[in-house]
Amino acid sequence: MCHFVVTPPILVAMNKKAFQIRLPESASQVRSEQSDFRGDEQAAADRDDLETLSLVVSRASNAILIMDASGVIQWTNDAFSKLSGYEPAEAVGCMLNDLVFGPSTDANTRQQINKTLVAGGELTTDVLQYRCDGTTLWVECKLIPVNDDNGKLSRWIVIESDVTRRRQTEEALVAAKKSAEASSRSKSEFLANMSHEIRTPLNAILGMTELALTTELSREQRDYIQTVKTSADALLDLLNDVLDITKIEAGKMEIEEVDFNLAEVVRETTKALAVRAHEKGLELAVHMPMTIPHELSGDPTRIRQVLFNLIGNAIKFTSAGEIVVDVQEQWQTEDEVCMQFSVSDTGIGIPKQRLQKIFDAFTQVDSSMARRFGGSGLGLTITSKLVRLMNGRLWVQSSEGKGSSFYFTLTLGLASTQDRSLDKHRWPLTSQEQISDLAVENLEGKRVLIVDDNATNRKILNEMLGHWGLKTTLCDGAAAALKELESASRGEVAFDLVILDAMMPVVDGFQLAEMMQQRPDLQAGTVMMLSSADRPNSTNRCKQMGIESYLVKPVSASALLEAIVNTLATGTHASARAESAHADCVSPRDPQFLQAVEKPLRILLVDDHEPNRKLVESILKRRGHDVRSECDGEAAISACQSESFDVVLMDVQMPGRDGLSATQAIRENEANTGQHSPIIALTAHALKGDREKCLAAGMDSYLAKPIHAADLVSLVEQLGRGETKASCEDTRLSTSQRCDAFSIGSALERMGGELDLLKEHIGYVINDMPQLMQMMTDAIEQSEPRRLEIAAHRMKSLVSSYDHAEARELAQQIEQDAKQGRIEEARDRIEALCPLVETFTLAVDEYLQAN
Ligand code: ADP
Repeated sequence: MCHFVVTPPILVAMNKKAFQIRLPESASQVRSEQSDFRGDEQAAADRDDLETLSLVVSRASNAILIMDASGVIQWTNDAFSKLSGYEPAEAVGCMLNDLVFGPSTDANTRQQINKTLVAGGELTTDVLQYRCDGTTLWVECKLIPVNDDNGKLSRWIVIESDVTRRRQTEEALVAAKKSAEASSRSKSEFLANMSHEIRTPLNAILGMTELALTTELSREQRDYIQTVKTSADALLDLLNDVLDITKIEAGKMEIEEVDFNLAEVVRETTKALAVRAHEKGLELAVHMPMTIPHELSGDPTRIRQVLFNLIGNAIKFTSAGEIVVDVQEQWQTEDEVCMQFSVSDTGIGIPKQRLQKIFDAFTQVDSSMARRFGGSGLGLTITSKLVRLMNGRLWVQSSEGKGSSFYFTLTLGLASTQDRSLDKHRWPLTSQEQISDLAVENLEGKRVLIVDDNATNRKILNEMLGHWGLKTTLCDGAAAALKELESASRGEVAFDLVILDAMMPVVDGFQLAEMMQQRPDLQAGTVMMLSSADRPNSTNRCKQMGIESYLVKPVSASALLEAIVNTLATGTHASARAESAHADCVSPRDPQFLQAVEKPLRILLVDDHEPNRKLVESILKRRGHDVRSECDGEAAISACQSESFDVVLMDVQMPGRDGLSATQAIRENEANTGQHSPIIALTAHALKGDREKCLAAGMDSYLAKPIHAADLVSLVEQLGRGETKASCEDTRLSTSQRCDAFSIGSALERMGGELDLLKEHIGYVINDMPQLMQMMTDAIEQSEPRRLEIAAHRMKSLVSSYDHAEARELAQQIEQDAKQGRIEEARDRIEALCPLVETFTLAVDEYLQAN
């Protein structure tokens, strides 16, 4: 029916402008014969219909063209003349190609249109057209084939509409997106560089301060240096905050999904903050009901960060009272659980009108408060963004002068290792702690007196102990406790255990213990002391008083259970726990790690920054290691040629030859000698991808600045003694994971035997390989040797990590070809490289799935 609509004779009658249309003879004859046959009346009706339709077509707002089967224009409407500036007489007899397409019209689109005209079928495409006056416009061009009664293509209808504005908007959007991406990239780079610039001197300050604190100092000097350290730590925190927020805003913060133990995460976080709380005389209590699942999957690092910030704030803005961390289960399905966390304090609270504002960057409730408490106003911004990234929700309730409660919910996976039986005592033990069922069963029915002035603590202790079957009596102070003890001894049902809070008003735990000792008639049983994290000398005091069991608050269920079992069920003292509790209180920077080792290592240290060099040198020399220092990559390469080192510490950013390129050269030289010196990258870069770059360059491990002495010593000695090499060879790799062409084992070795690192690197390989292949192909197509060189170089580094000699060789040749402009030769090599890369990517992916 379609072809009747545009039947030219009607148009000739209707529209004077359409006179030029040359009517195909045969079609006209067919029409008139048909008309004769149907009779005058029918013909008149048809003519009427056709006239109306023809009028519509001719006056339509879209440009319409009719072309014959071979694409020659036969007729155009008014709108086409308006759109293109061509009168029908000028257009008729031309092809689209000659009339409206020009040099800037996309060649592919032209080809597509021509192909359609040859092959038939419909096509809708945007195309850049030229007007009669040479100006251009974008049109949406729709080609519709029209068949005759025999189904043979007889002509084309082309409908066009002006989409210039839409295209301009789209182009503007693409350009804006590109420029935003470019500026975000340059912002990230700027930050990485800034971070490097700031971290490098900060590294030296922190390290040297730590070293100085291990030496003999007068009280005054220690005070000064401690202040330097505190300030440097604060500066580092601030730097990390700024980096975090930039990473989140640039969409570069990635949320992990790994199995973890929730009790462990909460315990570690609260333990780290306990000293701060106790120094202010605040109670820090943790309440986790005994029945919630604890083996979960999610991002423990980010959960720790969120909790750390909320608890840190609670401590900062509270001068008296308590901070309570509570974890509750909201709902659970087969494989997920929704947890609600809350951090409540009894602090200054937040005015109602400021409640939402505090989540904005650099916002504090008021400047006077900021002056009183310090802080950047970034913590809650990061926290709320992190919770959102983990698909959770964060909110706050607060009452000025009374305190605040921050809540957040997270939906977490139930880890595959989940013990769904909800064994009544096993939760919430951390993964490292196991206590026999029998020992716990023995606790059933034992009587415990809990003395703590803090109601929340009493409630939590009561819940935990009740869960293990112990019978509890709660007292809020010495007077009530003595009364209970007296009545218990009268009734001859003495307490098996008395748990005392050390820090109580009026009569503290130690004084109460002394009173109990002076009254043997009370038959007080064993005493367990709960002490604060800021009192490292509490252990000695306990020992002097004969109190063997001693725990640091906040007490985790696992530590409490272990201590009770040791004290009651087996009758032995909990001194081991007391020791470890004490160890929790002393500074983690124990100077013991600076004592000399028996077998010193020969170490090459390469760093252009003198203070850093000095710092690392003095840490290693204190351990008795033999250190040779060099300032740049070139010197490092020649040092490695003339000498063999147990470990090389290589700064990444150095003027001249940087650490990455020096490492590659060292590895290339080693390929001839068969040696392998472990190389550890020292880098101040803190952005994702830096570690991968180091590993891809052939480095074995990675230390981020600022470097902590203990981490440095431990990693250097581990790699220097080849410990990780041995372990990765025999425990982590089965023979099936080795392949003649390449070796995943070598990559694992390069990564210091760290399976996680290897997996991360494989992820990087899987992601990058196809991109690099594409980049090489594109570079050849577009004759861009420099791009080809870069892609080939990256490819070479990637496959080298897995000792893939054949792929490495090819990539190296492509790199050479590119350098010398031999693009065509590179094309053949890329073809040869393609199947190797495919097999390799499949194999590493398989390995990743299996591990
Ligand atoms: P800051 O580094 O200033 O602590 P945050 O983003 O963590 O930055 O907090 C922003 C502001 O919110 C704080 O300056 C403080 O005024 C208010 N605030 C946060 N937590 C609490 C709290 N627990 N109690 C009272 N005020 C709080």
